[in-house]
Amino acid sequence: MPVKRKNHGRAKTNRGSVNNVQCVQCGRLAPKDKAVSRATNNPIIEAASMDDLNLATIYQKPDVPSFFNIDSYCVSCACHLRIVKVRSEYHRKERYVPKALRPKKL
Ligand SMILES: [Zn+2]
Repeated sequence: MPVKRKNHGRAKTNRGSVNNVQCVQCGRLAPKDKAVSRATNNPIIEAASMDDLNLATIYQKPDVPSFFNIDSYCVSCACHLRIVKVRSEYHRKERYVPKALRPKKL
């Protein structure tokens, strides 16, 4: 039987079941290994307010804490938001980690 993807779009190798995660965009439950996860690191104060903060403080460039989030998206939202893109049948078979997502060597 022809299959669209070798792993059926999932990373569930030999496990029976995987916990679900909720999509941050639409709220749909998607298996954790199928969901598209992206890490974001946003400062607590937005950039427009940072100028006001810099004017109000005597310190040079105050250290503002930031939120570290791991956002999970369902596949349809990830396509809609262009986090992942539709690939041709040939390019779908390429299995490598994109250069931007590869871990950096120390
Ligand atoms: Zn979604």
